[in-house]
Amino acid sequence: MKQQPLIIDGHLDLSMNAMEWNRDLRQPVARIRELERGMTDKPDRGNSTVAFPEMRAGNVGLCFGTLIARYAKPTHPLGGWRSPEQAWGMVQAQLAWYEEMDRQGALRMIKNEPDLNDHLGLHGQEDSGPIGFLLSLEGADSIVTFDHLHQLQARGLRAIGPAHYGPGTYAFGTNSEGGIGDKGKQLLKEMESLGMALDVTHLCDTSFWEAMACFRGVVWASHSNCRALVNHNRQFSDEQLKALLERDAVIGMPLDAWMMVPGWIRGKSHPSNTVVTLQQMIDHMDHICQLAGNANHVAIGTDLDGGFGTEQGPSDLDTIADLQKLTGLLAERGYSATEVDAIFHGNWLRKMREVLQ
Ligand SMILES: [Zn+2]
Repeated sequence: MKQQPLIIDGHLDLSMNAMEWNRDLRQPVARIRELERGMTDKPDRGNSTVAFPEMRAGNVGLCFGTLIARYAKPTHPLGGWRSPEQAWGMVQAQLAWYEEMDRQGALRMIKNEPDLNDHLGLHGQEDSGPIGFLLSLEGADSIVTFDHLHQLQARGLRAIGPAHYGPGTYAFGTNSEGGIGDKGKQLLKEMESLGMALDVTHLCDTSFWEAMACFRGVVWASHSNCRALVNHNRQFSDEQLKALLERDAVIGMPLDAWMMVPGWIRGKSHPSNTVVTLQQMIDHMDHICQLAGNANHVAIGTDLDGGFGTEQGPSDLDTIADLQKLTGLLAERGYSATEVDAIFHGNWLRKMREVLQ
């Protein structure tokens, strides 16, 4: 049987699911769902899509795994930890879980190019082998001082998205507006000197343009769609996408339904009453490929289980293993096998190699 192509998912909140949703990702998705029956503390209970067995089944053998903890002043629209120190504490819990999964051989943190080459060499030989991940920080509020940043870098951190939702310490994120200020500039300078990538996903427009102007290192967008298709500041305008293409950036396409189709109303819209499928993901990919004139800048960055589950995802995706359906769907849309390989893994590998030197 021909092996399924390797998929690299550019954005998975694995440790958030382990530590804040209390999901043991070594168990199959069906078991995780069963254990959550009757729970109502989060809207996506019982609807998860990501676990290690399903990642292996779909040959998602490598991903970007996040650390995520927001610090929120009392006026913050979404809330979060009351102090940066608490956000740091949560990040430590999440990192301890990644390190333990790594120690047990369920995951493998990719810290440098030899790690990556070794992982890719193993890949395809052992279906039960570790799933590789590049450690990325979503929202930098937990970085209390640059000493904290250096500690994370020493333990494997290779990319940072300075903001998440709302105003952050180092930049303004989705649904807020403002520049990166001196703190943001200093953070970007420090990241540049450490050789880390800048993940521009979630930056508001002003912070995006300021960050792009002052950061000279490797840039990507781990999970961002196109504003031309879904008009909201969470998505990138064509102007922003073109600026990213000029920097040879790669943009991962997320599968959160409200970012995929216009007019989605949280809690009311549902994959059963709204057309949202992997075809809409390809529409966003295709938009970027048309702007670029090639397929060298789009990739997968699902954000699956990033605070939503099957109630707010494509109707033709039950678990992350269904990402392999994209092979056929992309071929139907005229993408060659070489282009599918680039979208599945080649483009992310190019960027990973730039930060893993
Ligand atoms: Zn996100």
